[in-house]
Amino acid sequence: MSSRLLSAKIIEQHPVKRDLTGLTDEGEKFSLVYRLKRHAQSRRLTLRLLDDEVVVTAPVWAPLTTIDRFVFDQWEWLQNKKKTISDASPFPLSFPFRGGRVRIELNATAAAWRQLSETLWVLRVPVSESACPKVIRQEVGTLLRLEARRVLGERFEQIQKKVSQKATCWRLSSARGRWGSCNPRLKSINLAWRLVGCSDEVIDYVIAHELAHLREANHSENFWREVEKIDPLYREHERRIKQIRSEMFPGL
Ligand SMILES: [Zn+2]
Repeated sequence: MSSRLLSAKIIEQHPVKRDLTGLTDEGEKFSLVYRLKRHAQSRRLTLRLLDDEVVVTAPVWAPLTTIDRFVFDQWEWLQNKKKTISDASPFPLSFPFRGGRVRIELNATAAAWRQLSETLWVLRVPVSESACPKVIRQEVGTLLRLEARRVLGERFEQIQKKVSQKATCWRLSSARGRWGSCNPRLKSINLAWRLVGCSDEVIDYVIAHELAHLREANHSENFWREVEKIDPLYREHERRIKQIRSEMFPGL
């Protein structure tokens, strides 16, 4: 694998939790969090996946950089492992959605969305509940992506009206580690379909952020001034999106 390790930092102590940031060969940023346990008896590095958490056991003398590299090199294996586990496990019937939640109802005769309240939606899925989790997952994933295309498209049109630096188009991306990106040369922006799990204000902020990049391709003070023009509450929204797990809709 030709992905690159960009940075590593400690996000918790006792036992230490590390967050590695890397770049795939397609240029997509991703993060890999692991818990580190050091044992006096341990003679080599071992890695296990325990309830979705990556746990590494290492000898006391092993340098952190060596351990980071070791974990990082297992990234592809971990992705496959997580996928195998989630394919076989029962499918969750509720997800964060548009700042609220969506409940999944199986056995429907046709696919349909219904909004029950400001924060509750129902997605009816024409798949039997006795179908294998993989089939259910695929069907729900397709319907969520379709809805994401509609919702994000609507938000994109709204935000575009507020700015002079228009994007020529936007695309739905399957990126996991990154909510949005832009291509200043093509004047296009990419939005992760998983954003549909966030509230409209947060979605709007991500769109504003990417549109501002069409003018300022960095995170300079000028850039944030551009963002503020579109979204005066951007600081609050930036703080909120940092709290949301990038793994929205795990397994999908
Ligand atoms: Zn940015």
